[in-house]
Amino acid sequence: MTANELRAAELRELLNRYGHEYYVLDAPTVPDAEYDRLFRELQALEEASPELAVPDSPTRRVGGAPLAEFDSVVHAVPMLSLSNAFSDMQLADPAERHAELIQFDERVRKGLDLAEVEYATEPKFDGLAISLVYEHGVLARAATRGDGVAGEQVTENVRTIRAIPLKLDGANPPALLEVRGEVLMLKRDFERLNADQIERGDKTFANPRNAAAGSLRQLDSRITAQRRLSFFAYSIARVEGADWPATHAGEMAWLKTLGFPVVEESLRPVVRGVAGLSGYYEGVQTRRAGLPFEIDGVVYKVNRRDQQDALGFVSRAPRWAIAHKFPAEEALTVVETIEEQVGRTGAITPVARLKPVFVGGVTVTNATLHNEDEVRRKDVRVGDTVIVRRAGDVIPEVVSVVLAQRPMQPAEGGDLFSAGEEPRYPAYSLPAACPVCGSHVVREEGEAIARCSGGLSCRAQRSQAIQHFAGRRMMDIDGLGERYIDKLVEYGYVKSVADLYRLKLDDLLEMKRRADEDEGATPETVKAGKVASKWAENLIEAIDASRTPPLARLLFALGIRHVGESTAKTLADWLG
Ligand code: NAD
Repeated sequence: MTANELRAAELRELLNRYGHEYYVLDAPTVPDAEYDRLFRELQALEEASPELAVPDSPTRRVGGAPLAEFDSVVHAVPMLSLSNAFSDMQLADPAERHAELIQFDERVRKGLDLAEVEYATEPKFDGLAISLVYEHGVLARAATRGDGVAGEQVTENVRTIRAIPLKLDGANPPALLEVRGEVLMLKRDFERLNADQIERGDKTFANPRNAAAGSLRQLDSRITAQRRLSFFAYSIARVEGADWPATHAGEMAWLKTLGFPVVEESLRPVVRGVAGLSGYYEGVQTRRAGLPFEIDGVVYKVNRRDQQDALGFVSRAPRWAIAHKFPAEEALTVVETIEEQVGRTGAITPVARLKPVFVGGVTVTNATLHNEDEVRRKDVRVGDTVIVRRAGDVIPEVVSVVLAQRPMQPAEGGDLFSAGEEPRYPAYSLPAACPVCGSHVVREEGEAIARCSGGLSCRAQRSQAIQHFAGRRMMDIDGLGERYIDKLVEYGYVKSVADLYRLKLDDLLEMKRRADEDEGATPETVKAGKVASKWAENLIEAIDASRTPPLARLLFALGIRHVGESTAKTLADWLG
């Protein structure tokens, strides 16, 4: 076998395994971005050497085989997948950034022999596809996509989804209508479901898509009924006894009048050409975090149906549509160590230090593990390959561990020939002493958070208390950043917030010199001495300016536990 043949076989095996976990078991073990990366690698190999493209390659197939427990339904019109396009948003030149999109539009224009094409746009819902058949206006059958040719009959389960009409609106329903759309779980319903699962001691779902798929593909429809599933329609597959709208946008408008949920109009404009598409893509990306449901990209469809028919299909996807994916919010990386951070109130948060990984548009090196129970539930250990997630501006977190890639070693007392293996690193446990000041770590009954009992004698708590004190909504002391506060505390210039008001110009300059020396000052930083004295003067002024604050601000700034901004106001009013 050649190296390429070997690699192609390896990729097929991996993709088949990941596909089975994702489509059939609803329990993926790697992020979508990892699957997509391997898929594209295989696609590239097959393009370069077509003899590698065996008929049952994952690049030619849709989804996974339907579960045998359900009745199987053969789709009258196959349910296909979508081809993907990606954009590298780090590239400044739009022509490079959206190269794959430009290629798609070029292919479409060439196929239709047109200078410009009109596209209907839509979010790419991250749920699972469903086919709904209505006979004389009544829901007769619902089926999953399955392998695209045949799916699972899930009519009973679908009837429990309130967003799906059991009967169509309007006086003259078509004799037959097959609607396609996405069953999904809203973000808030997903969070509630997972919280309930934890409470019951059941396993949680990795993301809303898996939760939706797992909930819909239940053998007992009572379980489906308890899960809050939603639905959006996005196409029509068959119509009999009514006029079939001539455009995709027309289909959506008609579906809406029939009582189907379709996404709000501002999220599905009809646009022209690449400029229209890329403008839509970038616009939706900025709205992504605020949407009530998860999307993993947007979809473009040639708007006119006669043009769609003219373009037709390739093996697993239409030529007239494409999914333009967003940068992945989840990626694989390795946990190098687990450390603890001490917060202002002493709260101890375990943090995973990660091998740097590009995810959600930035390079991530740390991810929160929230608290001890969370680390144990997810069983995150040093050396583990983990899925990290960074969505919007939310702090990156570890979603789960890829157990198959955990470093192992022969079991204690075992030898090379005895099969036993155990994890190389132990399960995580919180240290008994604060990593900064050595005080006892205490965790009160029923509390998830453990705290350092050192109070303001703990340097970390002191630093953070002063940071809080100086903050914008508190004493608003300009020029007093985190780095200098840490140094003022470390060198002992400041033991409490009151000490800030005793600082002299020379203290600040001396602190800055020491800090620069400690951090290995270069000639440039020494040259910055002039700038430093200006900074110190301004800071002294800013501290002075905060000597007579409104009482409410002062109370809030002191950072007394349970005294937030509004309690501080109430207290101040009452105290007068
Ligand atoms: P796809 O999800 O990329 O695209 C096709 C699907 O998009 C349709 O079936 C439909 O359900 C959905 N869709 C959402 N909004 C739509 C809209 N507005 N119009 C039309 N369709 C819309 O393709 P796929 O074949 O279902 O899945 C492939 C993807 O699944 C991969 O790119 C990968 O991200 C993920 N996957 C992940 C793993 C894993 O292990 N993590 C394994 C297999 C697949």
